[in-house]
Formats: sequence, structure tokens, C-alpha cells
Amino acid sequence: MSSQVAVLESVQRFLNRQHGLFIDGQWVAASSEQRLAIFDPASGQQISSTADASAGDVDLAVMSAWRAFDDGRWSAMLPAMRERILLRFADLVEQHGEELAQLETLEQGKSITISRAFEVGCTLNWMRYTAGLTTKITGQTLDVSIPMPEGARYQAWTRKQPVGVVAGIVPWNFPLMIGIWKVMPALAAGCSIVIKPSETTPLTLLRVAELACEAGVPPGVFNVVTGSGAVCGAALTTHPRVAKVSFTGSTATGKQIARVAADRLTRVTLELGGKNPAIVLKDADLQQVVAGLMTGSFLNQGQVCAASSRIYIEAPIFEKLTEAFAGAVQSLSVGPGMDPGAMINPLVSHSHQQKVASYLEDARQQHAEIVQGNRVPDGNGFYIAPTLVINPAASLKLAREEVFGPVVNLIRVADGEEALRLANDSEYGLTASVWTAGLNNAMSYSQRLQAGTVWVNSHTLIDANLPFGGMKQSGTGRDFGPDWLDAYTETKSVCIRY
Ligand code: NDP
Repeated sequence: MSSQVAVLESVQRFLNRQHGLFIDGQWVAASSEQRLAIFDPASGQQISSTADASAGDVDLAVMSAWRAFDDGRWSAMLPAMRERILLRFADLVEQHGEELAQLETLEQGKSITISRAFEVGCTLNWMRYTAGLTTKITGQTLDVSIPMPEGARYQAWTRKQPVGVVAGIVPWNFPLMIGIWKVMPALAAGCSIVIKPSETTPLTLLRVAELACEAGVPPGVFNVVTGSGAVCGAALTTHPRVAKVSFTGSTATGKQIARVAADRLTRVTLELGGKNPAIVLKDADLQQVVAGLMTGSFLNQGQVCAASSRIYIEAPIFEKLTEAFAGAVQSLSVGPGMDPGAMINPLVSHSHQQKVASYLEDARQQHAEIVQGNRVPDGNGFYIAPTLVINPAASLKLAREEVFGPVVNLIRVADGEEALRLANDSEYGLTASVWTAGLNNAMSYSQRLQAGTVWVNSHTLIDANLPFGGMKQSGTGRDFGPDWLDAYTETKSVCIRY
């Protein structure tokens, strides 16, 4: 008997559809008949296909978003009404949670348990949090000291106005959750959005766009275009009617987008890669360390921008901890995401599997000490076994570059100061953690680690109310938190003479 979750009929029907582009509240055929194949990473088999949008198709979507913004059907709606519609949208995502979780696992590969808990469960928290921000947009009243003409009095205030059409570019690691991280703040602020999922994992956002419409988001406010990064993504981020780009993905593509955006002074938020360190001090609770960093490193097969991938361990506990990690890695079962018992699942695509394998090949050629977990299933799935690399030489590519796979470096350090120096010696600065029982260590290391988020005795735990984003090459701008909508609004100053 199969231990895999049975695919819902509604999921199968969705996979079988001839998906178009979602523009102006309806399905629109792309101008070209060319299709992009969608694969199940567990089997390597094609399961669906999507349209391959041209620059012309993208123009239709952006102009639809622009008209929807310009005529005020959403931007001028009472905030309480927008909030109510967004909460209804969240309710519909919840009602269709199992369907969305299955679609996510089938196109992305991750465990159905993670799809249910994170892609749907956590996404709902973010949706409801952001919906609530709709009615909390505020400005300030300001006393000004303008001295002329003599006797004139002034009253001034600021108000936050939606920036306009937002372009959202979504990666393939958490397609639904990261997609929602772009859709919700844009809609809460009163913007309209055109979103482009990765061509590898576009299905859930297509489904979610229908649910937004059903919830009452007016046509044209939420559009989805599917296609390649090079054509569809580039056309979207360079479109003159786009006022803001919210991008999550690689540092290389993020920089390319920022360069073009500079020409038009388009606003950008970039959430890019990381090579995130964890420092384990000798006073840490080792059981807590192993449990926390196994999740921090191997969640979604390490395809997480915040994942811990360099673990610096103080010498006195190095052997003991390395042994514990090796035991934990070897106990992880490897299998398809639709099997809730499989803890490590395939990577997202054949090309990404090859990329991660090339990092390991480079390490093997340079005689690195490698500890690998369970054999991967036979067949054409895109698997890589969970892997520890012990004390990798600085010359290894995986010592410095973001691998974005189930590969973690364990590095012996003489003391915490050496760990801190090595941890900060990276071009990235997204997240970091320190593991210690000492209050002074917690205070000192959290201040000195160069990262947008630092955890103490945990890693990769994020929350809608806690700002998240990178330093250095890990990006610019912050998502989440009470000020999230600032990135989707312009501050307008109004000054009245009386
Ligand atoms: P990319 O940065 O190329 O892709 C991210 C998104 O950008 C996708 O939607 C992609 O579309 C789109 N895109 C690609 N080129 C352009 C362009 N010129 N203009 C606009 N949009 C574009 O990442 P990759 O998929 O190539 O992954 C490479 C590496 O990036 C990974 O190995 C990992 O290290 C890192 N990464 C980091 C992520 C994070 O969460 N910070 C997420 C994903 C990757 P399409 O997929 O259709 O090409």
C-alpha cells in the first residue's frame, strides 16, 4: 500500500487545465502557443504546463493593473472594505488549503507536511496580519515654522498613498508563501500588482489569483503572468508603468533588476541570498542545538534563503556535536514530498539538483571530509542526500557560495571570537544565529553579527510582525512588521496656509 497522500480530484483537474495568464480578472491566452512544462520533482515526470508570456502579454497585464489603480476601484476603496475583502481572501485560501498544499508539493517537491504547515498555515498568518495593516495606514501632523508672508499660519501633515503598480517576482523555493508576501502588502496599501512566479513553480499563484477574485478583489488589481525570467520577468520589471519591484531570488538577478530600476528610479525591495552562519558556543544546550540546526539547515532541503549553512563550533564540543549531527543526518528518511514520512525530499528541478551536485563534486575532488545521509530513492527524482562537510577548506566553492541545498558545513573554531570573525567574513548578511546559555554572549553576539536577523538558540524562525531582510549582498529593504506598507506607499506632505 502506498504511503503517499492521495491526490485530490480538484488538484488533478487543475493540473490538467490549459492554463492561461490571469489578466483583468479572467483567463487570457498568451500570444504564443509555446508552453512551459511543469515537472513533479519526485518522479521527474511532466504534470502540467503553463503559458509562456511575451513582452506584449506582460504589457496587457501591466496596463490592466494600471487602469485598475488609476480609476480608484481598489486604491480609493474604503480601507475597512479592502480589509474585509483581504480577510475573505485569507478564508478562501484556508478553505482550499489542502488543494494548495498538494499543488505546492507536486510542483516544488517539498514535504506535504511542510506545505500544509508553512506554505498554507504560516501564509494564512501573514495574510491576516497584512489585511489588518490596511486600516492602520497613518501619517503625521507636523508643526512647521514657515516665516512668510508675515502673519501667515500653516498646518502640515503627511499621508501615505499607494505607490501604483507593483511588479512581484517570486522564486521557486516557497512559491505560495513568498508570492503572498508580495501580493498582500501591495493590496493592503491600495496598489495593484502583476506577479510573475518562477517558471518552475507557477501553479499555486495561478490558483490563488482566482480565489482573490472570488473574495472580491476587483478585476485588474491582481494579475499573474507566467513565463521565463529572461523575457516575461525582464519585460515586467522594466515596464514604464511599474512603480515598484518586489523581488526575491538570487543576488545576480536582483542586481540586474536594481540596475535597470535605477534608470527609471523605480522603487525596489530585494530579498536575496544568504550564506548564513550559526555559532555554537561551548555553554550551549547541545540537544537544542542539534534539533534547532537540523531544522534550520535542512528545512525544504536547504532551499531556504535564511537556512543555516555554516556552523561554527567551539573546539571543546566539536567532536561530540559532529557525531550528533552525523547521527541525525543519517536518520533522515529520503523520499517523495507526498509521503508525509519522508523527511528529505527532492530538490526543485533537475538543473538545481545538478548545480548542488557540482558543489559536492568540487568538494570530493579536493578530498573534503563528507558525511552523507540515507541513499536516495531510485528513479528520475531530483534527489540529493542530506550532507555534512566537515571543516571544508576555504578553497571549496561550497565554503563561500550559497549552495541552496541539503549541504551544511561544520567548522571547528578555537573560540567564539574566531567564529564571529569567520561568520562576518562573507559577502552576505541575511541571517545568523548564536547558541549559548549565557546572557552576555547572547547580547554581545547578536549585536556584532552582521545580518538582518539574528536568532539566539533558534534559527529560521520568522514572524509577520518581525522585519526581515538582508545586509550587504543579501538585499535591501525589509519585509514584514508594522512598517511593511511603507515600501508600497509614498509619503505625501500637505501644507495648508490659513
Ligand atoms: P533567479 O534569481 O534567477 O530567479 C528568481 C526569480 O527571478 C524567478 O521568478 C525567475 O524567473 C526571475 N528572473 C530570472 N531572471 C530575471 C530577469 N532578468 N528579470 C526578472 N526576473 C527574472 O534564481 P534561480 O532560480 O536561477 O536560482 C539561482 C540561485 O538563486 C539559487 O541556487 C539560490 O542560490 C538563489 N535563490 C535564492 C532565493 C531566495 O529565497 N533568496 C530563491 C531562489 C533562488 P524564472 O524562474 O522563470 O527564470
